[in-house]
Formats: sequence, C-alpha cells, structure tokens
Amino acid sequence: MESLPARDGKKILKTIDKMLAELKTKKSLSELKIITLEEVRKDLEDCKRCRLYSSRTQIVFGKGNPNASLVFVGEAPGREEDLAGEPFVGEAGRLLTRIIKAINLKREEVFITNVIKCRPPNNRDPKPEEIKACLPFLKRQLQAIRPRLICALGRIAAQTLLETTERISRLRGKIFEFQNIKVVPTFHPASLLRNPQWKREVWKDMQLIQKLLEENR
Ligand code: URA
Repeated sequence: MESLPARDGKKILKTIDKMLAELKTKKSLSELKIITLEEVRKDLEDCKRCRLYSSRTQIVFGKGNPNASLVFVGEAPGREEDLAGEPFVGEAGRLLTRIIKAINLKREEVFITNVIKCRPPNNRDPKPEEIKACLPFLKRQLQAIRPRLICALGRIAAQTLLETTERISRLRGKIFEFQNIKVVPTFHPASLLRNPQWKREVWKDMQLIQKLLEENR
C-alpha cells in the first residue's frame, strides 16, 4: 500500500478533528435521540407529579398506532376511560370512532391520547398545574410518534398546544403548528353531542384533515 505524504496525512487528520469538534457542539445530535412510546410510558410509571394520582384508578396513557400519521389529542380521561385505562371509550369516544371512520381511517391506524393522563374528579377542567406537570409527556409522545398531523379535540387541547386563550370556535378549522407538526383544532366530540348543530363544522375540519394527510403522503 502506498503511504500518503506526511503533509497530506496531517491535513486529513486536522479536517477529521474539526468535523468531530463541530459534531460535538451540534445541538441537533441530542435532538436526534430517538425516543419510543414505551420509554415515555415507563417514565410515567406510577406518576405522582400532580394531585390527580390520589383519585385516579389508573393512568390513561393513550392508544393506537405508534407510527400514526394522525394523532388525536383530547382533554382528559373521563369516568369510563379511568376505569378502562383507554382514552375515548365512552359516548364521546364512540362518536370519535365514527368521525375517524368518516375520513376512511380506523381507530387502530391513528393514535389517541389526552393532554392530561389522569381523570380530574367529577370531570372538572384540568387545572393549570396539572397541565404543566403532564404536558412534557404529551410532547414526548408526539416526539416518539412524529405524526404528520395533530387534531386537537376541544378548547383545552387546542389552547394548550397552541399556547393561546383564543376560543375554540375561532381556532377550529384553521391550520397551526406544534413542534413542526401541523395542528387542526376542532370541537370536542362531547360538546358535539351537546351541540349537534356543530356537526357541519366538524365535518369540514375532518375534510381538511383528510386533504392535508393526502397532500403529505
Ligand atoms: N374526553 C376526553 O377529552 N378524553 C377522553 O379520553 C374521553 C373523553
């Protein structure tokens, strides 16, 4: 094997050193760390980061395809979800299943979760400190799944993800971003059950979601 002239060898070593130094300082290296949903689930384990642990039956982590293109984010588990350990299994959940089917998807193809993972007593709104304690886990779930689109179900999910106090009626049907992922807010299925006149708006929002998913394919 022919050896390189000493001058060229030194130059190559210098270039490699420089590249290594640059790599070490690149923030994106740590951002590249691949996290999995199972790691996030394990970190939550027997979470006691807020008071809700004392009244919950169990943590409702979320369910669905870990590689989903579309993630639905609701508010918090209700009574049935707290008992079943699965999100959206009550009446609002059955409506959500129909909504998902209406855009030619199955529940198993999407991922469904909530802003907070434990049921607030009497289904009251989550408190700011509860959202603050739980939000890192939603962020990490989204980091693990990296969906193309998030559908924020209702006021709490939309306002939390978009860091706004704007009304859901003004947010719905528009396209926003959260961590470089498109977000489309719509009315919560539970409020749709109480206000069936909003069906048309929800249908429009779902058609927008379907169009965005097809565009990004
Ligand atoms: N409402 C929600 O926001 N989430 C559920 O899981 C069930 C009802």
